[in-house]
Amino acid sequence: MALFSHPSFDHHEQIMFVHDEASGLKAIIAVHDTTLGPAVGGCRMWPYESEEDAINDVLRLSRGMTYKNALAGLDFGGGKSVIIGDPKSDKSEALFRAFGRFVDSLGGRYYSAEDVGITTADIMIAHQETPYMAGLEGKSGDPSPYTALGTFLGIKAAVKHQRGIDSLEGIKVAVQGLGHVGFHLCRHLHEAGAKLVVCDLSESQLERARTEFGAEVVELDAIYRQDVDVYAPCALGATINDNTIPQLKATIVAGCANNQLAEPRHGEILKEKGILYAPDYVINAGGIINVSFERDYNPDKAEAKVRKIYDTLLDIFVEADNSGKTTAVVADEMARAIIEGAKK
Ligand code: NAD
Repeated sequence: MALFSHPSFDHHEQIMFVHDEASGLKAIIAVHDTTLGPAVGGCRMWPYESEEDAINDVLRLSRGMTYKNALAGLDFGGGKSVIIGDPKSDKSEALFRAFGRFVDSLGGRYYSAEDVGITTADIMIAHQETPYMAGLEGKSGDPSPYTALGTFLGIKAAVKHQRGIDSLEGIKVAVQGLGHVGFHLCRHLHEAGAKLVVCDLSESQLERARTEFGAEVVELDAIYRQDVDVYAPCALGATINDNTIPQLKATIVAGCANNQLAEPRHGEILKEKGILYAPDYVINAGGIINVSFERDYNPDKAEAKVRKIYDTLLDIFVEADNSGKTTAVVADEMARAIIEGAKK
């Protein structure tokens, strides 16, 4: 399989394939760009169907972290790692210690953290072998409330740009997923006077949303076709696709999920339909912004920086209107300009 010409390679600085026979660790660590600082991005553990899938995932995610960190105004580059394995059955202390040693061997070019399939407890084990771990227990803590705050402000920015109003009073939002971020987001929206329509796999979360926020509960597949102003994807990736776009009545897509567009062309289709899309890695940067304050943790400073997501999104929306480009393309271009500026 070709790597340098891989469609997601996109000038990666370094890709490390690591194997520890004793623990069964098989992982890939990708460092996309360290122009702005050490590459920071979580570690995902997933039972990939093929090694090609794992390579594609890590390359796409690590490039995404470069752009996310740049637009969030952080002195971090972008990187990511994936462990090939089933998080339900393949975890062991030896495996995470081995992973920690490999991260350590990069000498601080890459900092890892939790992501899908990985818990803070796993990261704490790896941390015994290396200082280059972020999002540690007892430090900046759970990033989700900050991700939720950033997403809430992103929805406000989208409503402001599209409707010219500062208030969310009476605005209807369909929230897909009431997990760590989605539930906090619902609280913000409810307190701001928005009306909520929600779905989730968890009956208990749905019941909480019903009683605490007066949310209307709908079936999983019905969330796309709700008569709402905003669709907020807060569960899965790729929910903006050929099947869902024709169902959308919302004129704004703004949520915390990663990789919301199934393909870049879906950003074009949203634009053609007059649907304003808040680029995922911009609106969901609150968590990584909070982690960036970990060394000398100060929640007020972290929150002040998360609040800048509002202005960043407004800038992107205005530039997209002026240039005729999609918001996703504008975000990528702005991120690249920050990195190129730093190189010079
Ligand atoms: P989570 O696992 O806590 O919550 C996900 C929720 O979605 C769960 O309640 C789950 O039951 C629900 N869900 C799963 N499939 C669903 C479906 N088909 N329809 C409706 N609901 C479904 O995850 P989280 O930490 O809240 O993250 C949510 C999303 O935001 C993910 O895509 C994640 O990658 C992204 N994200 C999270 C953070 C963070 O700080 N936690 C930061 C950036 C991006």
